[in-house]
Amino acid sequence: TGKTLLAKAVAGEAGVPYYAFSGSDFVQVYVGVGAARIRDVFRKAREKGKCVIFFDEIDALGKKRDGFNGGSEERSQTLNALLTEMSGFNANEGIVVIAATNRLDVLDEALLRPGRFDRQVEIGLPDVNERKEILRIHCRNKPLSENVSIEKLAQQTVYFSGAQLESLLNEGAILAAKRGARFIENEDIDRAFYTVIAGAEKKDRSAISKVDREVTAYHEAGHALVTKLVAPENRVTKVTIIPSTRGAGGFSVSLPPDRMYRRKKEMENSIKIALGGRAAEEIIFGKDNITTGASNDIEKVTQIASALVKRFGMGDKTGMLNYDMLHSNRGDHNGEILSECKALVERFYKETTELLIENKYLLDRIAKVLLAKETIDEECLERIMKGEADIHPGSLEQEVEATTAKSAVIA
Ligand code: ZN
Repeated sequence: TGKTLLAKAVAGEAGVPYYAFSGSDFVQVYVGVGAARIRDVFRKAREKGKCVIFFDEIDALGKKRDGFNGGSEERSQTLNALLTEMSGFNANEGIVVIAATNRLDVLDEALLRPGRFDRQVEIGLPDVNERKEILRIHCRNKPLSENVSIEKLAQQTVYFSGAQLESLLNEGAILAAKRGARFIENEDIDRAFYTVIAGAEKKDRSAISKVDREVTAYHEAGHALVTKLVAPENRVTKVTIIPSTRGAGGFSVSLPPDRMYRRKKEMENSIKIALGGRAAEEIIFGKDNITTGASNDIEKVTQIASALVKRFGMGDKTGMLNYDMLHSNRGDHNGEILSECKALVERFYKETTELLIENKYLLDRIAKVLLAKETIDEECLERIMKGEADIHPGSLEQEVEATTAKSAVIA
């Protein structure tokens, strides 16, 4: 979310040197090595007088100390060294220590006491204006074509972190260089977009069986169709059955609108969208033929459902309590939470399945076009949804032939 840049900016504004480290740099196998490194960092900093020291991912070395971390002697010594160095400071020493983490809850409390990391600044994902500014910074030294609009790009990158925005432009630059082009064009950014989200496209797809392609097509069609039906305000910018090098069989990109709060309905819709893939598989291929392709979806569903119940007080029976605070690590309420989450997901799965059965003709059509074209964009999906002429089964075959011919030429 731009934490690194923020720390750098503090040093820049103050006109002092900036030293950045990652918490994992100090996690060593041999007891004492990490601690020695910490002392080394602070010794060098003191030589400079004034400076900013930044530790990214401080949780790697600052996790809560408990009896369960076997062999954590090294970690504990490293953490102690950091605590000692930080309490050894007096205000006029001019060394500012900043650390970043995504997991404030796992940090050792000693780290957060006064005189140490006692001021916490929460940095959420950038909104549209912030994304625009971040994109501006990262495209400064890149030959961006005039056709590329930073404004538009900022709008399309909902939920992107600062680091993702940076790698979007970097990937775009690499793709442009591969083409031997002088400028980064929209098509480069477009392809980079999906590399950042899902990983690079797998080039050799000859080993993928017909059945697997069909399963993927229906699975992705399921996600896309449910999105269009339950959350038409989401943008489905791409649906593809081209597997990525990160192991996904295919994917669809569904972008919710940029909002400050997430509504209950939206979270429920996200669950349904995630369940759409598995539901489509079951409808078409039968209960015994569902696949492992839904594992990421199930992870997402679990995450949303448990947040809904445990943190946002939106469960019917569990009520408005934060279950993370209720000693849930002792397992007091695990049974209730589990049954609430399960009931929730079961209900949504049933609703999603019914929705897809009602609209099975659309599901078939999207899947067929996917099998023919491998990738469809938002406009094409809209056309299928509207049942416009060129997607009718009769003309579909023509379209299939046309696409095959075209890809044959490219190949
Ligand atoms: Zn899926």
